[in-house]
Amino acid sequence: MQNVIIIGTGPAGLTAAIYTARANLKPVVIEGNQPGGQLTTTTDVENYPGFPEGIDGTTLVMKMREQAERFGATFLRGEVVKVDFTGRPLKIVLDEGQTVEGSSVIIASGASAKYIGIESEQKLMGRGVSACATCDGALYRDVPVAVVGGGDTAMEEALFLTRFASKVSLIHRRNEFRASKIMSDRVLNHPKIEIHWDSVVEEVLDVSRNEVTGLRLKNVKSGTLTEIPVQAMFAAIGHEPNTKPYAGILTMNEAKYLVTTHTRTNVPGVFACGDVQDPHYRQAVTAAGSGCMAALEAERFLGSLGG
Ligand code: NAP
Repeated sequence: MQNVIIIGTGPAGLTAAIYTARANLKPVVIEGNQPGGQLTTTTDVENYPGFPEGIDGTTLVMKMREQAERFGATFLRGEVVKVDFTGRPLKIVLDEGQTVEGSSVIIASGASAKYIGIESEQKLMGRGVSACATCDGALYRDVPVAVVGGGDTAMEEALFLTRFASKVSLIHRRNEFRASKIMSDRVLNHPKIEIHWDSVVEEVLDVSRNEVTGLRLKNVKSGTLTEIPVQAMFAAIGHEPNTKPYAGILTMNEAKYLVTTHTRTNVPGVFACGDVQDPHYRQAVTAAGSGCMAALEAERFLGSLGG
């Protein structure tokens, strides 16, 4: 029987772990399939305060983890497949059948990359189709590649890929970026990046060869089809929250993000922080901040139980 169970090891979960561990609550942190979360797919984090030269995403979360361990947080590997929040204690079932029970739960399971959703993309997944340039970009040296999207992630991925690829085609469905001005300007001024405005990917070629050889693009205004030769396609079109186990149990919005008030969910003793409850800001520093809030709320809740 635990005081606090924390689900997720990104900046939100690890900050909650640091705070609850320092409060002597001995948190148990459940670490899923992507330890460290989305930050581990970023090379240079330039906007996390305290690191004027920038810091590698993996290094940043590893430091947070060390800090949590130093105060007594323990880590358990597993994917949450089911929860039972109908009574006390709160119960969490992991993929290998293990059940963890606690007085409070902090959900910090983050969000995962979205894909376009066409059949050819699905078939060529891992064979040139990826959603993580920092993971797979180095495989495509001196060859042309493509990035799909118009937000900050797409800008970051495209800029990162210019280190390896001979050319980066950036495909965006509108004629202006959603990304911040600083990132957009870097992309617009980069000699290796070619932008295809008002365009969507109709097909990833070539399923019959079981590898990516190009993309068939459709201009959404003119309807014109063109083919561009690329050896990889990186989807950078946003994320969806990891909230499946909580469907029908916790209140969610229409995009399936958990709905919270000061990190409190609709179930007393269950809190949520970071990207799993934040469709707006989704920054490492805001995730960490909300992790701190969830920890303080959990601490108050446990205090109110009088245990
Ligand atoms: P985002 O801001 O939601 O952008 C997603 C992009 O993908 C949009 O341009 C969208 O087009 C496009 N898109 C969505 N669905 C699509 C589809 N089915 N087909 C084609 N295009 C599609 O997501 P994000 O870029 O991952 O950024 C998420 C948050 O993290 C933002 O708050 C961002 O500022 C932040 N972030 C910050 C940094 C940084 O500061 N260094 C780095 C990465 C992310 P429309 O524009 O037409 O909607």
